[in-house]
Amino acid sequence: MRVTAFAAASALLFCAVSCTRYTASDFYGGESVDSQMLGELDDKLAETTAEKYPAVTNADGEQIFFWTKSGSVYHKSENCPRLSSSSEIKSGTHDEALAAGLERGCSVCCKGQ
Ligand SMILES: [Zn+2]
Repeated sequence: MRVTAFAAASALLFCAVSCTRYTASDFYGGESVDSQMLGELDDKLAETTAEKYPAVTNADGEQIFFWTKSGSVYHKSENCPRLSSSSEIKSGTHDEALAAGLERGCSVCCKGQ
């Protein structure tokens, strides 16, 4: 009875170790495929984003960005869903956005830029 229990415990331990190894290699394999697929999805999303949120330029041909007083990112389009809920929208060039303390573009409308 003890021998059987020991054997079962060993088998369980072996399974746990081999299962862990299998999971690890399976994870790494899946990860490489996923990042490639994500890259392709990102490219498609960037194309869609550019069509959905076309860049806005001022009279001098400079690209204009939009942001809110409380926001931490700037947006390239007033149509961005993350901006639409805001009532007070400021706008300006990229330099002006940076001067306003906005360090990066919105992950929705500025994706792929
Ligand atoms: Zn945005």
